[in-house]
Amino acid sequence: MKGTVIKSTGSQYQVMLADGRQVSCRIRGNLRLKDFEATNPLAVGDYVVVELRDEDTSLVTEIIPRKNYIIRKSIKLSRQVQVLAANIDQALVVATPVFPKTSLGFIDRFLATAEAYTIPAGILFNKCDLYTEEIWAWVNELKALYTSIGYKVLIASSLQPESMDLLHEELKNKTTLFSGHSGVGKSSLINNLIPGLDLKTSTLSTQHEKGIHTTTFAEMHVLPGGGFIIDTPGIREFGIIDFNRNEVSHYFPEIFKVSKDCRFNNCLHLNENDCAVKVAVEEGRIAGSRYENYLSILENRDIFR
Ligand code: GDP
Ligand code: ZN
Repeated sequence: MKGTVIKSTGSQYQVMLADGRQVSCRIRGNLRLKDFEATNPLAVGDYVVVELRDEDTSLVTEIIPRKNYIIRKSIKLSRQVQVLAANIDQALVVATPVFPKTSLGFIDRFLATAEAYTIPAGILFNKCDLYTEEIWAWVNELKALYTSIGYKVLIASSLQPESMDLLHEELKNKTTLFSGHSGVGKSSLINNLIPGLDLKTSTLSTQHEKGIHTTTFAEMHVLPGGGFIIDTPGIREFGIIDFNRNEVSHYFPEIFKVSKDCRFNNCLHLNENDCAVKVAVEEGRIAGSRYENYLSILENRDIFR
């Protein structure tokens, strides 16, 4: 029977079968995906074939090739990677223009990383119950910008049920990765989407514990209406790509498009002559913030915050 891995504890895996049942499984012998050097053979989101047996002795006998996956480098064994999650339909960066404010640098780095992983991505501007008129204007401006580039943009608040309708629709029957800084309201959103789950939400006073997370494996939550949510604490967990300088522009779709008109085909859009990208920035066809954040990644400046 086929199923989806929804939890991994290292040697035991929780698999949700096609008929909705959940079983605890072990993995057969040295089952591995071919050409894959990872510290873990299976990750959440993996599609597998299960041989059903008595309680806790069911076996994963086959791994279906992944359509995509995200990794984290093991700290000690630098060449080895850990697969955090597989078969992701979309990745949403949960952002807030207020309390705490998410920088555009963080958002753009997230989107570029998703491009590199070939995962469709989007932005979820959260806590919209707190927006002033001025903040609404700014968020709507950003929505227009990112929509024009091809990203999905959602605006929601777990405190305003009507704002959650579109989110429900967008998540239905899909595997969605949520990422974002601590305090932006991810747990509150997930609790709202999955009644009864009751994830711990952080109070404002514990938010300074940013980035301290003890979970080793990403968790996948089952949506009541169909679909899954993968919760990762931050971009460091989403995975850091070692961007090759010549490839950074490939992950900024609107820059990549224009770069075909640059004079040099290895143009980095810095100070080269006849750079179509720089012209487009000057003429406002490419947003200055996007170009700046492209440069930040190119120059390896830390824009995680
Ligand atoms: P996480 O760290 O991203 O999981 O964020 P939490 O869900 O723990 O929320 C962090 C803080 O923001 C908590 O104090 C929540 O009560 C608050 N919060 C979460 N969502 C909203 C929202 O939509 N509106 C407002 N005003 N506060 C929110
Ligand atoms: Zn150029």
